Amino acid sequence: MAVYNPPLDDMRFMLNDVFNVETFWQSNEKLAHVDMDTVNMILEEMAKLAKNVLLPLNRSGDEEGAQYHGDGVVTTPSGFKEAFEQYAESGWIGLGGDPEYGGQGFPKMVTMLAEEMVFTANQSFALYPNLSVGATLCLLASASEEQKQTYLEKMYAGEWAGTMCLTEPHAGTDLGIIKTKAVPNGDDSYAISGTKIFITGGEHDLTDNIIHLVLAKTPDAPAGSKGISLFLVPKFLVNADGSLGARNTLAAGSIEHKMGIKGSATCVMNFDGAKGWLVGAENTGLASMFVMMNYERVTMGLQGLGGTELAYQNAAAYALDRGQGRSDTQIQSPEKPADSIIHHADVRRMLLNARVNAEASRCFAMYVAKQLDESKFSVDADNAQAAEARVALLTPIAKAFLTDKALEATIDCQQVFGGHGYVREWGMEQIVRDTRIAQIYEGANGIQALDLLGRKIARNQGKYLQNFLAEIRDFVANMLANHEIKQATLDAAATIEELTTTVLANISTRKSEINGCAVDYLHAMGYLCYAFMFAMMVEAAHDKEGAFYSNKLKLATYFVGRILPRLHAHADMVKTGSDPIMDFDLSYFSENVS
Ligand SMILES: Cc1cc2nc3c(=O)[nH]c(=O)nc-3n(C[C@H](O)[C@H](O)[C@H](O)COP(=O)(O)OP(=O)(O)OC[C@H]3O[C@@H](n4cnc5c(N)ncnc54)[C@H](O)[C@@H]3O)c2cc1C
Repeated sequence: MAVYNPPLDDMRFMLNDVFNVETFWQSNEKLAHVDMDTVNMILEEMAKLAKNVLLPLNRSGDEEGAQYHGDGVVTTPSGFKEAFEQYAESGWIGLGGDPEYGGQGFPKMVTMLAEEMVFTANQSFALYPNLSVGATLCLLASASEEQKQTYLEKMYAGEWAGTMCLTEPHAGTDLGIIKTKAVPNGDDSYAISGTKIFITGGEHDLTDNIIHLVLAKTPDAPAGSKGISLFLVPKFLVNADGSLGARNTLAAGSIEHKMGIKGSATCVMNFDGAKGWLVGAENTGLASMFVMMNYERVTMGLQGLGGTELAYQNAAAYALDRGQGRSDTQIQSPEKPADSIIHHADVRRMLLNARVNAEASRCFAMYVAKQLDESKFSVDADNAQAAEARVALLTPIAKAFLTDKALEATIDCQQVFGGHGYVREWGMEQIVRDTRIAQIYEGANGIQALDLLGRKIARNQGKYLQNFLAEIRDFVANMLANHEIKQATLDAAATIEELTTTVLANISTRKSEINGCAVDYLHAMGYLCYAFMFAMMVEAAHDKEGAFYSNKLKLATYFVGRILPRLHAHADMVKTGSDPIMDFDLSYFSENVS
């Protein structure tokens, strides 16, 4: 079975040394109940559950997969139901939920670390509770008080699950063209009709009820995305006393057969005049759904981090054991026919690339989580607003950069195994397959990049970015550590600033500039964010004794010399602009394809 030892030391380092969370929690009355002793207990409990319950189901879940049995019946792989019951009974789904409705009110900086462990141990399993958590956030933000009272407690308790139903066969990225209809029934309900595809957890055997959050159009809705409304459509109708009533007229038509996350049921959902209730005001559905999508986008970054961590741990264990060739420096194991491959610099390079990604992405996810917590809990309104702007700027990076780098990291780790990584035996190919989806769903990564450069940079002429750059420069100016990460971070910030000026100028003359440059811009920004994270980690580690801390400084040195230079290559590509992309006639792409 795969190796997984949850990196609790690194998690505690983030909480205590890098982000000094206890000071923040204690300064806020809404978080007064949170202290490090409790948090340590939470992390240790989740570490046990992830390692002992969820990890053993990872491979079998992949091999068995979710199954469709006809008549709308879907089952999850053996063991998932019992694991879900244990997960729900221990209160994990409501860990960050609103205490007014039965949640436990823990901040994102804590729930994030728990989620990381779940994703590391079993990506397919993780999706079931995560979709529920996302749905509760959407309801909390937009639902009526009655809806909150009816649904939230059961969802926090894991008795009922949640989904998000956006995608249709002809409408993925472009939700403005969805066809699902919502016709008023004459009471306070609507009849929802249409087909949604690719719905994660659309049907399964884990819970008594499934609460679908469905995007649909009312009869006279304006065209496009301004005419989308959000509906709550339960699998079983709920009686006034909270008990389950009649089966609603909706069902899974089939499940997808996929490259990875095979234990997660990805369903075609048919709504046939199903009873649904409006959530929030008519035609504001997309905005309400974005509450859920933004949360899920950060969570997809955690899926990438989980894939990276599992791949790294297994590749490092393999590299220490596998004997091939002799070390360049001196024979390490004369009693054996070969030295272990960990002595080869190229194998270390692959492992270190993954290690950089694991530690920088964990730190970055924590940084974004801190902004989410500040925007939600801070008593200072200006502070909360600034944090909200920071979340808006960084969410597309947390989703797309972390998942792009995660696929690279998992492939590097697979490469450490040579041919043994390509065959099923060691489980590395599963990690690559599972991690791949995170680049696609919740808005494909190219769309995240458009969001960053178009909405979060160009639309406000770089204002959010300037504030972020000011924070980075201020942090570096106050660093006590003496380390090359300082200058490297300042250089990266200067490159991004110059690059942004160039791209904003080019946008006015080249129509495809944002679309053609956004992905490279996002990657350049991602490396700047990683540089800032390493600067924070170095500052937290530089004056402490022990290998854990000195290795942090070494990893930062590796990052500066061996990875950060990529930022400048991406910057050069952005500066070149979109002309060489758009220069081709359409006929070039149609050659030999029809
Ligand atoms: C396993 C799985 C689980 C999923 N779970 C859910 C779920 O729970 N709920 C749900 O509603 N959906 C879900 N989805 C759907 C997922 O969110 C969509 O697949 C995704 O948003 C992309 O939509 P699409 O597949 O239709 O691709 P398209 O929108 O057709 O895009 C195809 C390509 O074109 C690019 N593109 C599109 N428009 C533009 C543009 N304007 N500019 C530049 N590039 C563009 C995209 O980046 C992409 O590379 C899931 C999908 C999968 C595979």
